[in-house]
Amino acid sequence: MVMGQGAPSGNFDAVVLGGGPAGLAASILMSGAGLKTACADPLFRQLRDRPDSFRDARTIALLQGAIRMLERIDVWPHMQARSAPLWVMRVEDHTERWPGAPAMDFRADELGDEPFGYNIPMPVIVGALWNRALACDNLELIDDAAAEINIGADAARLTLDSGRIISGRLLAAADGRNSPARKAAGIKVNRWAYDQTAIALTFTHELPHDDTSVEFHRPPGPFTIIPLPGDNSALVWVERPEEARRLMALDDEALAAIMQEHMHGRLGRITHIGPRNAFPVAGLTARDYAARRTALVGESAHVLPPIGAQGLNLGMRDAALLSELAAEAHRWDGDPGGSELIAEYDRRRRRDIFPRTAAVDFLNRSLLFGGFPPLQGLRALGLTALKSLPALRRGLMSQGLVPDEDLPAIMRRA
Ligand SMILES: Cc1cc2nc3c(=O)[nH]c(=O)nc-3n(C[C@H](O)[C@H](O)[C@H](O)COP(=O)(O)OP(=O)(O)OC[C@H]3O[C@@H](n4cnc5c(N)ncnc54)[C@H](O)[C@@H]3O)c2cc1C
Repeated sequence: MVMGQGAPSGNFDAVVLGGGPAGLAASILMSGAGLKTACADPLFRQLRDRPDSFRDARTIALLQGAIRMLERIDVWPHMQARSAPLWVMRVEDHTERWPGAPAMDFRADELGDEPFGYNIPMPVIVGALWNRALACDNLELIDDAAAEINIGADAARLTLDSGRIISGRLLAAADGRNSPARKAAGIKVNRWAYDQTAIALTFTHELPHDDTSVEFHRPPGPFTIIPLPGDNSALVWVERPEEARRLMALDDEALAAIMQEHMHGRLGRITHIGPRNAFPVAGLTARDYAARRTALVGESAHVLPPIGAQGLNLGMRDAALLSELAAEAHRWDGDPGGSELIAEYDRRRRRDIFPRTAAVDFLNRSLLFGGFPPLQGLRALGLTALKSLPALRRGLMSQGLVPDEDLPAIMRRA
């Protein structure tokens, strides 16, 4: 049910603040487990009244764990036709630095009979989650923002812009990188900037992509093409901010010419370019992932450079684990925001988020500062070893995908 101004106050088992993809997933999962749930975001007004006006040029590569979860909550069938499988991830070194690193293919068929995951346009993800959320029992979708958040011993109390007050025994802070809920819980963060901008767009091309994404490593950052259905692909192009501003101002023809140059003939001629968005590349990690009835979900907990498709995959795992723990507490008539759950969530998310943030940070910096020979040497050595040692390569790929036993239950293989 969507309610707006003047709606009555309410007490919930769980309040999810923020209805981006991570918050919507958490809301669907928690309400599905029987928790009386509210999710508030002013974005809902747009999703309800003008769904086609929601634009975001990003496409998101979701790995198999997240796809299995979306299947199990009946969201995946509404995305699948507009998604492309990722069978091969290729890395090519175009830094022209010494020592050169060999091109490297990571192939999903070395691990099993399913692709690494699927690449999906962001509006398709948000639209499908929103439609599923609308059909959930136990879930109230509130098109409003939290103006004030007070976290007490027994519940978190939120005053919305409309004046309505809602409270939840558990507060899922899915309210993005500047999270007011995180602040209210007193959780500190480490933030850093990279002096890079990521341009995201989709385009149509002459030659097939063969379900292969290619990360061209260039000194200002990776230039990554990721398949979409048909002869379409997405691009995430990391550049220095000044150059990104120049590129954003170019017309499609001029931009296509530069893109073709960076792709070294791959995909042939570009025949169409879609709308572009630019995102500052930043890093953030919360010092705690949960405290005082509040659990961080999605970018309130972690922001990573767009390398290796980690951001929303981590966000979906946040949503899945929090829902699993809250459902367990609810089943035993426990407190879904109690200190045991908070400590358990913090402990288990730390294990997943921390090493991935560090690995992505290293990869990005090894490009940015790779003119420093030992760093380039390390990168070249690593890729050479991976190319010649299949067991090492398979080990790294499995780690990248997260071993089944480390996934929340809803993401595991049957
Ligand atoms: C170029 C690019 C490419 C990427 N590619 C990938 C990829 O391939 N794979 C991958 O896994 N990740 C990828 N990511 C990362 C991914 O986009 C993010 O992790 C994801 O979008 C974050 O979703 P979220 O729900 O956590 O946050 P958001 O989408 O930011 O949602 C937060 C929500 O909170 C709401 N909000 C804020 N304040 C309040 C308030 N006071 N009251 C109520 N609501 C509030 C906002 O309105 C917003 O809707 C990429 C990122 C970029 C920039």
